[in-house]
Amino acid sequence: MFHPDTTVQSDLRGGCPPWLSGFKRPVRRELEHSLACDVLVVGAGITGALMAEHLSRLGREVILIDRERAGFGSTAASTAMLQWEIDCPLSELTGYYGFERAANIYRRSLQAVSGLKTLAEELQPSGFRQRRSLYLTGGDTGAAELHAEHVLRERAGLPGVYLDYLTLKREFGFDREAAIVSPGSADADPLLLAHALINSALAQGAVLYDAEAASYASFGHGVLVRMDNGLEVQAKHVVLATGYVMPEFMKTDLHKTASSWAIATPPQTRPDALWRDGALIWEASEDYLYARTTADNRIIIGGEDEDDIVDPDERDVLMPAKRDALLRKLKLLRPAAAADAAFIWSGAFGQTDDGLPLIGEVPDQPNLFAAYGYGGNGITFSYLASRIIGEMLAGRHEPWYDDFAIDRPPPVA
Ligand SMILES: Cc1cc2nc3c(=O)[nH]c(=O)nc-3n(C[C@H](O)[C@H](O)[C@H](O)COP(=O)(O)OP(=O)(O)OC[C@H]3O[C@@H](n4cnc5c(N)ncnc54)[C@H](O)[C@@H]3O)c2cc1C
Repeated sequence: MFHPDTTVQSDLRGGCPPWLSGFKRPVRRELEHSLACDVLVVGAGITGALMAEHLSRLGREVILIDRERAGFGSTAASTAMLQWEIDCPLSELTGYYGFERAANIYRRSLQAVSGLKTLAEELQPSGFRQRRSLYLTGGDTGAAELHAEHVLRERAGLPGVYLDYLTLKREFGFDREAAIVSPGSADADPLLLAHALINSALAQGAVLYDAEAASYASFGHGVLVRMDNGLEVQAKHVVLATGYVMPEFMKTDLHKTASSWAIATPPQTRPDALWRDGALIWEASEDYLYARTTADNRIIIGGEDEDDIVDPDERDVLMPAKRDALLRKLKLLRPAAAADAAFIWSGAFGQTDDGLPLIGEVPDQPNLFAAYGYGGNGITFSYLASRIIGEMLAGRHEPWYDDFAIDRPPPVA
């Protein structure tokens, strides 16, 4: 686990992702004296950015703080596939929570990506693209299991078409037993997206400070946050958006941290190296693989997750072996692609047993809210967190918010 006091952004990711250039950095101020505000958002990655943008749009007086550069934590390592399909298949989620609840969670996720698209249409961050997704058979999941998942999704009112072997081969050129192709997803440059959101929040009156929160104390009508330099921010509400670096009181058995690796190829030159519409690719396999394209025709492919590795040095040592493994998988997935790695990187990666995040009020700490627990749907769920917490701050609560509650019981199959 990452210690909240000592972990720096470079512990969360290694290597070099392709996102690290061409952005407009949000303006940070020094925190020079203690302050009071309506909402303090701690952490200015994509989660804090979405939170600050939404809350300032609602007319709230927002202070956003980060102890390092905004967006350069896990956000900069993301492959930024903005999918509504959850890491946990609908059939598995149904096994945990029953069909109605599982179907509702999937529909909320679909709405979240739709909301992200609407926001992107307004803010126009460079690199944001609407995409279809292609969910391929893989591992133990063959055509029969994928078809059953498709039938369940149809019953839940979710969009998508089942493709048999020949149709998949003809339309996308992938040699897999079957797939589900679904509309409604997107991809992005995560750093540009985070910075566009923060710049929008700043234009709406939010202020970004360079500051490190060291302790949180709830009192009658707010939370007192002490910074590492002794200054204090007294806020009516505090939202924790510190990514995989959680304060000790947030540690829960529901959430575990693992590691993931990704590569980006040079721009592909053969037309058959890329696939139709640059759909987001992921597979129904325990041995997870995902792939997307970029606007300059690179292929990004990731996966090779290791549940037991969180140490940054151990992650770095494995970089060459993971690169080679991902290149081999790319060659199998797309034989016409030039399988070279122009970029290779890795990052800490959150996981929960049910694939769902941890969103809501921190138990026993009134006015302190948290937005954590993000795996492969991290950015989708960050958006959802901003909407749920926006409502909670206004004193509203709907029963489905409890599906993501921090103190929800662990799923039972
Ligand atoms: C290789 C990889 C691939 C991924 N692919 C995808 C994908 O395709 N789609 C997807 O949706 N998600 C994906 N994810 C997950 C996604 O990247 C994360 O969910 C997301 O970036 C988390 O953002 P965040 O803002 O919560 O955390 P971060 O980006 O880490 O931001 C947290 C911020 O909090 C700051 N901070 C921490 N503690 C303090 C403190 N005490 N005081 C002040 N500031 C503090 C840090 O400096 C940091 O800037 C991927 C992750 C990895 C590693």
